[in-house]
Amino acid sequence: MARSRGWEIVERAKTGERLVFDGGYGTALFAAGLSNGGCPELWNDTHADIVRGIHHGYFKAGSDFVETNTFGGTRLKLNEYKIGDRTRELNDKGARLARSVCPPGGFVAGSIGPTSCLPVDYGVGDNVATDDEYFATFKEQAEALAEGGVDIFAVETMMFPQEAIGAIKACKAAAGLPVMATMFFQYEEIHDRDRTMWGESPAEVARTLLDAGADIVGMNCGRGPDRAIVIIREMRAVTDAPLIAYPNAGLPITKGDTTTYELGPEAMAKDYPALLDAGCNIVGACCGSGPEHIRLIAEVARSRRSPP
Ligand SMILES: [Zn+2]
Repeated sequence: MARSRGWEIVERAKTGERLVFDGGYGTALFAAGLSNGGCPELWNDTHADIVRGIHHGYFKAGSDFVETNTFGGTRLKLNEYKIGDRTRELNDKGARLARSVCPPGGFVAGSIGPTSCLPVDYGVGDNVATDDEYFATFKEQAEALAEGGVDIFAVETMMFPQEAIGAIKACKAAAGLPVMATMFFQYEEIHDRDRTMWGESPAEVARTLLDAGADIVGMNCGRGPDRAIVIIREMRAVTDAPLIAYPNAGLPITKGDTTTYELGPEAMAKDYPALLDAGCNIVGACCGSGPEHIRLIAEVARSRRSPP
């Protein structure tokens, strides 16, 4: 079998090129009518044009690669909507939608998010998963994404190391594609430090994810780029591996039913020179960001593209 094109992302990042990932999907999906509590992955079937349009918008804005609309696409997560039996179909469709608007030279990452099940060590009751259950559910999703044609896997917004490790190993077992893995950090104001929900430091996370087999590691979601700079600097201190950051557009501001985010495109992009200087190879954005955020972030990244 030919080596997947996705490895080019890893190799280019290693030679010092800055690459641009995409931005958030939730805001655009909600704006298009996805209801609170609706299943985003179902839209890969029912609202294919809208999902395709979001991908296209990011490629046009300057993304080198975009992620599929399959963040909650494990059977464990889809079961919450009673559509676990559509796991294979919805992931396959999600991959094909992104692929259909991917320009020559662009790439597609298969998004793999948390299952909402706690590791057995932490949780009690029905909402827990063993390491074997994590592995099985992620492997099923990763196989479907690979069949649909993704170039790389994006294991993201992970809260627990056990779940992230299960997902990375499942991706590696499913296909010969590279894996990026990112975790969600909280800023602990009282200690002035960033930690995962269960207390791991950025340095510990980088080591854990790389040991599990990830090819690119980093952070996503959480807070804004100001914290991403610190997290990436701490990861860079312990590894030469390619690093990625796609933070939120600052903190969420909730008013009644609607959530907005504090940073507009310009306010967000102005932190990206420092993020790149901290040693980040691939930059994007998460919740609260849109194509205009990515357009400005891409300008920053391209102005600093230089071999080492
Ligand atoms: Zn996010």
